[in-house]
Amino acid sequence: MAKDRFGRNIHYLRISLTDHCNLRCVYCMPEDMTFRPNAELMQDDEILILTRLFANLGIDKIRLTGGEPTLRANVVDIVRDISAIKGIRSVSMTTNGLLLTKLAQPLADAGLERVNISIDTLDPDKFKRLTRWGKVNEVLAGIYAAEAAGLTPVKLNAVIVTGYNESDVVPLAGLTAEHPWQVRFIEMMPFAGATEFQLTQMVTAAQIQEQVEVAFGTLEVVNHGKLDGEARLFHLKNGIGDIGFISSVTSPFCASCTRARLTADGILRMCLLREKEVDLLTPLRAGASLDELRDLILDAVWNKPWGHGLADGAIPLNRTMSEIGG
Ligand code: SAM
Ligand code: SF4
Repeated sequence: MAKDRFGRNIHYLRISLTDHCNLRCVYCMPEDMTFRPNAELMQDDEILILTRLFANLGIDKIRLTGGEPTLRANVVDIVRDISAIKGIRSVSMTTNGLLLTKLAQPLADAGLERVNISIDTLDPDKFKRLTRWGKVNEVLAGIYAAEAAGLTPVKLNAVIVTGYNESDVVPLAGLTAEHPWQVRFIEMMPFAGATEFQLTQMVTAAQIQEQVEVAFGTLEVVNHGKLDGEARLFHLKNGIGDIGFISSVTSPFCASCTRARLTADGILRMCLLREKEVDLLTPLRAGASLDELRDLILDAVWNKPWGHGLADGAIPLNRTMSEIGG
């Protein structure tokens, strides 16, 4: 198991399969976002070489993300190949859900275990405004397709944005009364591309929880308050799903972070909210040996930042959120 210098076991790798996306969520990227040419992105064999290397170092949990990971050509084959790597015990995906009606079953058959689907409102007009052109009914169809394919428990990610969807907190939380889903509210974080917007229109997890409790009464704590990944879980009285709060900005969980991130252009990033990165793809393409790549990874892991610096005004401006993948 690869440990950092603070003793954290780094065993969870998020791999971005592409920086491209079929939406332009206002809190994620500018409308006129330009994407990298495919040749600059890791090719299928490069993803597998690096993932095998990570698995040899103790990574056992993979999440595929983007951009929008379902846009990646061969995504089903990539899932199958990653799932077959020795040591990998779980492969999941974060997606906007638009293509799941077509892909949920093939992905499940290829070994995908679960999906997190992003949906910030159930209202078609507000969804369109938040995503700049998305159709919420397509996402809802994707959620049901994921459930039918056994990609469960389905987790739904919602970012609440002042002036856009504050009043959607209650209907989103209310989904857990009737569905065994986990609805997770994520605090908006600042990156490049929409920094001013992200800083000024963030709604805190505490404010969201208050809204939920005004509508439904006091929430019941799940798992004695133990974090589920990065989420604090609760449920509604008589709810069959869970409600999670991810308070990365106001109450960071850095002390228990076990993650690394590999961007679509093959860059290892040890903290979502720190600019420091280590390029793995350039040396791989230049013929570096597996031992040399392994040393680069181990050094990056060892030097994983203790935590983010948002409270001190350190905002990562070298990439948009969509280029890292969340
Ligand atoms: N396209 C996929 C999706 O939307 O689920 C995967 C990539 S997206 C960057 C991953 C997650 O990050 C989504 O749940 C999205 O809502 C969230 N996200 C995007 N920008 C964010 C921001 N500035 N702060 C917090 N979460 C953000
Ligand atoms: Fe695309 Fe996901 Fe970013 Fe929305 S949050 S623009 S769906 S990458």
